Amino acid sequence: MTSTPLLKLSAVRREYSAGDTVFAALKSIDLTIEAGEMVAIVGQSGSGKSTLMNILGCLDQATSGSYQINGRDVKDLAPDDLAALRREHFGFIFQRYHLLGDLSALGNVEVPAVYAGATRAERDARARSLLERLGLGDRTRNRAGQLSGGQQQRVSIARALMNGGEVIFADEPTGALDSASGKEVMAILGELHAEGHTVILVTHDHAVAEHADRVIEIRDGEIVSDRRVREYNARPMADRPARTQSRFAAVVDRAREAFRMAVLAMAAHKLRTFLTMLGIIIGIASVVSVVALGKGSQQKILSDISSLGTNTLTVFPGKSFGDMRSAKIETLKASDAEALAQLPYVDSATPSVSTSNTARYRNVSATAQVSGVGGSYFRVRGLEVTSGGVFGETEVRDIEQVAVIDENTAKTLFVNGEDPIGQVVVVGKVPLRIIGVVGTQQQGFGGSDSLTVYAPYTTVMSRMLGQAFVSNISVRISDGVPTDAAQSAVSDLLARRHGTTDFFINNSDDFLKTITSATRTMTLLVAAIAVISLIVGGIGVMNIMLVSVTERTSEIGVRMAVGARQSDILQQFLIEAVLVCLIGGVLGIALSFSVGLLISLLGSTFSMVYSTTSIGAAFGCSTLIGIAFGFLPARRAAALAPVDALSRD
Ligand code: ADP
Ligand code: MG
Repeated sequence: MTSTPLLKLSAVRREYSAGDTVFAALKSIDLTIEAGEMVAIVGQSGSGKSTLMNILGCLDQATSGSYQINGRDVKDLAPDDLAALRREHFGFIFQRYHLLGDLSALGNVEVPAVYAGATRAERDARARSLLERLGLGDRTRNRAGQLSGGQQQRVSIARALMNGGEVIFADEPTGALDSASGKEVMAILGELHAEGHTVILVTHDHAVAEHADRVIEIRDGEIVSDRRVREYNARPMADRPARTQSRFAAVVDRAREAFRMAVLAMAAHKLRTFLTMLGIIIGIASVVSVVALGKGSQQKILSDISSLGTNTLTVFPGKSFGDMRSAKIETLKASDAEALAQLPYVDSATPSVSTSNTARYRNVSATAQVSGVGGSYFRVRGLEVTSGGVFGETEVRDIEQVAVIDENTAKTLFVNGEDPIGQVVVVGKVPLRIIGVVGTQQQGFGGSDSLTVYAPYTTVMSRMLGQAFVSNISVRISDGVPTDAAQSAVSDLLARRHGTTDFFINNSDDFLKTITSATRTMTLLVAAIAVISLIVGGIGVMNIMLVSVTERTSEIGVRMAVGARQSDILQQFLIEAVLVCLIGGVLGIALSFSVGLLISLLGSTFSMVYSTTSIGAAFGCSTLIGIAFGFLPARRAAALAPVDALSRD
């Protein structure tokens, strides 16, 4: 013969090793099969027929010897080239049908076309017409379990023909069928042969083998006879489906198929999937909640602080807090405040002095914090007036003996509940007329028990302390002015007035920054602990995915036999892992939200603040965990040899 044969085996040997011993299932097989032949390989059970057929079908590789397909040695082909060969040119029919149980008859038949990149319409039409032709037109929606053995085998024949199936490999196709169904299947194979398909049939039944043109008998891994029963005339194959789908659309289609299979697999084990998810749910819920709690507490602290007045600078004497000499520095004057108030960046500047003294009303006395403040103080600090009013610039200028007290003081001094407004309280030796009551001021964190009496700073300086200097000056910066610019302007002016820098400026922004970074550190720390729980959840996912791969080895084998690439298998299991984690993530976020809702329903002043960033991060995190922990099982699935996967039933 002059042309290259379709399939050519030379000195092919296949060994299996079991422990120390090596067993040769095939010993030096030489065999040539031409396109269009119908060949039966017969032999007793265990003689090596399936081993031979798996090598011919590129599901398995020979230990030694060469196998050429159309003159090309399969040793030179990569796994994906072999997959392409199986997908585009081969079709397999197995004794046990090997249909995918989660799919309908139609779905099963379509699988090879999905991997081959046919459009949905193309493959739907072709699968239907094939099923129609095989007498299953009314069974397209049935699952494998709802079909008889003969029907299942016909579905598997349709699947083998889906991409053309030039060469059909049938391993004991009638082995599990009743004789009527067996006859039907053999008739179909005969028809296919008549249409030009090359058919390679493996059977232990000589009667079945008689359907072929050529019968090869094999015994203990060796060919013992090779006889031609009928002459054959190679007919050209007519029927090969056309492909119109673009490359990109085909990739999307395969991803969609992988997604669908992942969903089906998850649905098949709902409880198991949920328990696996639980780790992710708890992990994500705790991360999101911790971050939300951190944000909530930060916002609460920040709003407490901002009630102290935002965008303010405070000028103190000395070099810094804790400077021993600052008590002796008497250069900070009320006139400094007046000068500062003239600066363009400055909204207002009020000096304040403070001291503590005994406040007396009738026979009740208590130690109070005396704050000598300016007229705009109450507005700047946002203090809430609960009764009466507050003093202003006039009272300050006129050094009036008036006072505003906070609620603590009112409660302490006016034990019988009388109205403090208009009453006179003696502070130290100075009688002050109460004109108003304000809410207790937040002293940094939490409430304060101290009593505070506010009086014009002029009154406190001249009548109580007899000093000409102030304790500090609060400068309110105009809106929209950068704090830094205002701060340097204030600093320059004071340094010029004093001739030296004997003061320091405390910036409320710096304070906010410190608080923000402190709460952020706390949040990070707790979130790190929550992340550990996520990792534990991820390990759970990996574990269950490994189980899933083991369980579905046979499915993987079938997919590989019909031409799935390694990347298709990898993708399918990765998608499943990512999906478990993503759904877990969504449920985790939902759980965290319900915890937040519960807290707010319980009437806590404290609330959880969910940021889109943290929710986005939770999604990202779950996807990443899915990929990271799903990769190993998925790669293990993809790396399976088709024959090993198939034989593990
Ligand atoms: P047949 O299909 O003719 O019944 P096989 O080709 O399946 O026979 O097997 C041929 C021989 O190789 C048998 O003795 C079988 O036990 C052995 N064999 C087949 N597959 C394996 C395997 N994966 N590992 C070890 N031995 C195997
Ligand atoms: Mg066999």
